[in-house]
Amino acid sequence: MSTIASNLSKTFKAAQIDGPNQPWKIVDMPHRELKPTEVLIKVLASGICGSDHFVEDGSWPGIVYPRVAGHEVVGRVAALGSDVKPVAHLVIGALVGVGWNGGYCSVCEPCREGDFAGCVEMQVSGFTFDGGHAEYIYAPRSAVVSVPESATKYASYAEIAPMMCAGVTVYGALKASGYTPGDLCVIQGIGGLGHMAIQFAAKLGLRVYVVTTSPSKGELAKSLGAHGFFISSPNTVDEIQALGGAKLIICSAPYSKVISDLIPAVARNGTIMLVGATTDGKIQIDNVLFNMSRVTLKGWSCGVAKDAEECLNFAALTGVRSVVETYSLEEFSKAYGIVKTGNPKFRNVITFPE
Ligand SMILES: [Zn+2]
Ligand SMILES: [Zn+2]
Repeated sequence: MSTIASNLSKTFKAAQIDGPNQPWKIVDMPHRELKPTEVLIKVLASGICGSDHFVEDGSWPGIVYPRVAGHEVVGRVAALGSDVKPVAHLVIGALVGVGWNGGYCSVCEPCREGDFAGCVEMQVSGFTFDGGHAEYIYAPRSAVVSVPESATKYASYAEIAPMMCAGVTVYGALKASGYTPGDLCVIQGIGGLGHMAIQFAAKLGLRVYVVTTSPSKGELAKSLGAHGFFISSPNTVDEIQALGGAKLIICSAPYSKVISDLIPAVARNGTIMLVGATTDGKIQIDNVLFNMSRVTLKGWSCGVAKDAEECLNFAALTGVRSVVETYSLEEFSKAYGIVKTGNPKFRNVITFPE
């Protein structure tokens, strides 16, 4: 049997929601026995992702309440379940993370094929078990990401946390797109995902343009590494096609009409990559454009722990980091409200004392 670490207090604070569309409230949660394959992590930073709204409004199937959201977590190992061998990053005090993927079984058919993100038993952090908007998180062993201590030399814990979902999502999507360095990559949206996609795409050697609504946002995109920008207008598609069309369009902001209108800017043999989660309607495509121009439509979401580690290594090598504003746990509702209205700059992260 595992035991609760002796130096822990009996309870810890968490931002919890009792049911769909209820208010978030700060509660004292009791520590409990670790399951044999769990890792207890003392949270240092927890990013608020746009998809936390699935927990707030109950639109993700099967969420059991009350629930603590949060799947962009950085912290330190505080205790190990009885079956967790203390190897590699799984030692007390190690710097670790937890992302959207809350672990996999290793024995189902997708896992046996190496597609751990497709595990039929897949857990989702902050959805199927309590997430990181809390002083502690109990995470399945396979969900734990090793974070190199060297990462803290270029970024704070808060700047690292969004790598666990936003970062690994756009990094993985770019890699999966089959791009060639120098290709024109158009990024739709400069939010939590988009501001990281700009940086990763530029560092991966793409020619990065952003579609945005104002020159000031365009200049902001350039400061993040974009080579240029288009101000969204009825002429945007023509302007992009005048450059030869976009070999890759990363759709990061969840607005179905904006995405639908931008799709015809794709180049022949180009790829449309959907990484956001639109809930405001269906994306429309032109069948003839797709078959005559041999366009690929592809979606992407997150990755598993090992993918996050690769993303972190690349970010450390190239200086990619999330731009964040930090809040205390007591300020959770305020921080979440800003994300919900769509105006964070760019990731709101809850931080905790070390
Ligand atoms: Zn997320
Ligand atoms: Zn599996």
